[in-house]
Amino acid sequence: MDFHFDTKAVRFPRKTKTDTVSKVQPIYQTSSFVFEDLDDLESFYEGKKDYLYTRVSNPNTEDLGMGVADLEGAPKGLATSSGLSAILAGVLSVVKAGDHIVACEDLYGGTYSLFKEELPDFGIEVSFVDFTNKDEVEKAICSNTKLLYTESVTNPLLRVEDLTALVELGQNHELVTMVDNTFATPFLLQPYKLGIDLVVHSATKYIGGHSDVTAGVLVGRENLLAKAKAKVINLGTNLSPFEAWLGCRGLKTMSVRMERHVKNAAFLAEALKNVEGIKKVYYPEYVSERGNGAMVSIELDEHSNVKTFFKSLGWVKIIPTLAGLDTTVSYPIGTSHRTIPETTREKLGINKQLVRISVGIENEVDIVKAFKEAVEKSL
Ligand SMILES: *Cc1c(COP(=O)(O)O)cnc(C)c1O
Repeated sequence: MDFHFDTKAVRFPRKTKTDTVSKVQPIYQTSSFVFEDLDDLESFYEGKKDYLYTRVSNPNTEDLGMGVADLEGAPKGLATSSGLSAILAGVLSVVKAGDHIVACEDLYGGTYSLFKEELPDFGIEVSFVDFTNKDEVEKAICSNTKLLYTESVTNPLLRVEDLTALVELGQNHELVTMVDNTFATPFLLQPYKLGIDLVVHSATKYIGGHSDVTAGVLVGRENLLAKAKAKVINLGTNLSPFEAWLGCRGLKTMSVRMERHVKNAAFLAEALKNVEGIKKVYYPEYVSERGNGAMVSIELDEHSNVKTFFKSLGWVKIIPTLAGLDTTVSYPIGTSHRTIPETTREKLGINKQLVRISVGIENEVDIVKAFKEAVEKSL
């Protein structure tokens, strides 16, 4: 066809159908999809075609959502723009103005801010209670309570939630249960299989795994996921195709990464016990037969100067997040738990001597050496 220069310049792709099949899913970095005619367009609304517009659906974001759903044993999954937006979509699939949520008090700081600062503006109230005491949880349930929300392994004190008890409580009171499974990952724990209705992940962490993507995934019951998907479409909290593609790339190696992460973390937790300058080592137990996770928290004792400790870590970087390939440390009261009221923090043990370690996949001897040296220098 004979087009003018400026028309030629914008006519891509030159060939819409090719006979090449790429081994890896291509990135559908496109805002929208093409229809041959009006019947073809109509077929999307009849549910016969999958893609119209990327905010609504895209092959890469579906890959990530369904990939995690598969690993969790859930029928549906949905990838979103961040862990927090996945939490929001999940929550809004259950509650509306006038409803009430009972959440654990030792929540990830970002979730706490969402629940405390934003949800009340939508007319949704949240009570924060001690989930180690299921009587307290039960007492907090009101006539308008719709949702029980907690984390399978909490942050930064690594408390392991009793999910079986939670499922029972939810069933007794006809409440939806939702769990943040970010720290455990689907490799260690699959809460949906235990009866939890909605499971959420910050894919920014172990699913992405390389500290280069911000994404979230929500998996769970089909009816709730359909509502959550409508929220994502209407709120515009969809994930971009490229980020979804990176998330899928991470997911492929999650098992092998987690094996090493978990092995190194167990080794480090053991090595830091009875070290002069360390008062307490937090490392969970009985998370799963595959191990207990890759996060270790330590409380330095009163003789140890926490600033000197952080300065003396050498190659171990200080970052406010977790779950990269490399070992990193964070300071919960300075970052992730800044927004939690001080009285709650003190009660929980999140104090100024507490350090959270995200154990990487390096050689375990090097990791232990870095921490032992830093503690020694801090005394
Ligand atoms: C990081 C994190 C989140 C929030 O995820 P984003 O991807 O940063 O939005 C939620 N829960 C837990 C446990 C996290 O560690």
